[in-house]
Amino acid sequence: MKDLKHFFPFSNKASNLIYFDSSATSLKVQEVIDAEMKFLSENGSNPYAIDYKKGFEAFELIKQARSLSKTFINANKIEEIVFTSGATHSINLLANGLRNNLKKNDEILLTELEHSANLLPWIAIANKTGAKIKKIALNHDFTINIESLKQMLNNKTKIVTFASVSNTIGALNDIKLITEVIKEFNNDIIVHVDAAQAIGHIKTDVQAWNIDFMSWSAHKMYGPFGVGCLYGKYDLLNTLEPIFYGGRMSLKIEENLVDYTLASIPEKLEAGTPNISGIVGYIAALNFINKIDLHEIEKHELELKEYFVKRVKETNLEDFITFYNLDVKSPIILFNVNGVNPQDITNYLDDKFNISVRGGASCARRIEGVINTKIAVRASFGIHNNKVEIDKLVEALKTVNNFLD
Ligand code: PLP
Repeated sequence: MKDLKHFFPFSNKASNLIYFDSSATSLKVQEVIDAEMKFLSENGSNPYAIDYKKGFEAFELIKQARSLSKTFINANKIEEIVFTSGATHSINLLANGLRNNLKKNDEILLTELEHSANLLPWIAIANKTGAKIKKIALNHDFTINIESLKQMLNNKTKIVTFASVSNTIGALNDIKLITEVIKEFNNDIIVHVDAAQAIGHIKTDVQAWNIDFMSWSAHKMYGPFGVGCLYGKYDLLNTLEPIFYGGRMSLKIEENLVDYTLASIPEKLEAGTPNISGIVGYIAALNFINKIDLHEIEKHELELKEYFVKRVKETNLEDFITFYNLDVKSPIILFNVNGVNPQDITNYLDDKFNISVRGGASCARRIEGVINTKIAVRASFGIHNNKVEIDKLVEALKTVNNFLD
């Protein structure tokens, strides 16, 4: 296993802290911090102030970020990438952007494992338009059950939206197969993938998957907060109604103050000044991932998960800890110490061992419909972690038994 810790200043400066919360946000690499700092100190112009050199440079950086994103997810055109503030913004833009396509009794299919960001925008738009939300059944490994999906598709189905990787249980969906089944039934059904958990860990390929839309956040891929993207197939993206109106997205406003002409995509969906310093950090994050290579990242993280599972099997942890997803092949562990509130466990691990993990629903409010508990402890591994840290987690969990007395 390669040592990738040195890329992360957090690990160097706070070396006694063990960070197992990459699902919430990944630690930031030095390149990202440096890139933002450099832009802010050496440029800092509005990217739409293209009348002078520095403004034009900033404008070019947006083009560069779009182009890198296009290649990263294998989109067809750079115009298919819309900058947002993150996956939540992207999904709200999509759900609200489709508001005129939805009518009473249309159906939106999703799973109970979705993060609130891929649940609430759809519930809200369904409530407004009279459309209905339907739940797709899951397999034992928490992936989408294809038979259930096939049975649910009908002429009222308008949208199917699901996470590539779930943020709680880490279930990894076969997106190509799911999309094939949907498109075979009706090519007009819109498929949206929430890639927030996938984007910095496994290869995303929107053309190979044949999906219509995809959402993600830069901060889950070693990049900055406040930047994300919505990908959409050009013709479909072009049909979305904006949710924000303002500068840069209009070409003409008529004297009658009624009529206006909007710019084409992607600008039409990007009103206002973008988070240019964040976008610069995002460029650095993409370059970093390309340098390390996604396969290496995936390999490193899975090795940590496999090592953790091996260590669990070697100890008697399973006697007093319920693990929900040891068999799932993503670097997330979900568990409960029998009879103990998960938040007591997270406090205990933090106070006594400086180990950061999460306790609660981890923003998947309907998880109880899937694993029979409303709340659990979540540890999620990243490329800054190593086996020594996993050993420390296992040793700490062994002492939880004492904590029960
Ligand atoms: N979707 C999933 C699967 C997530 O894990 C998250 C964040 O945890 C989101 C969406 C929302 O991302 P953000 O808060 O960056 O908008």
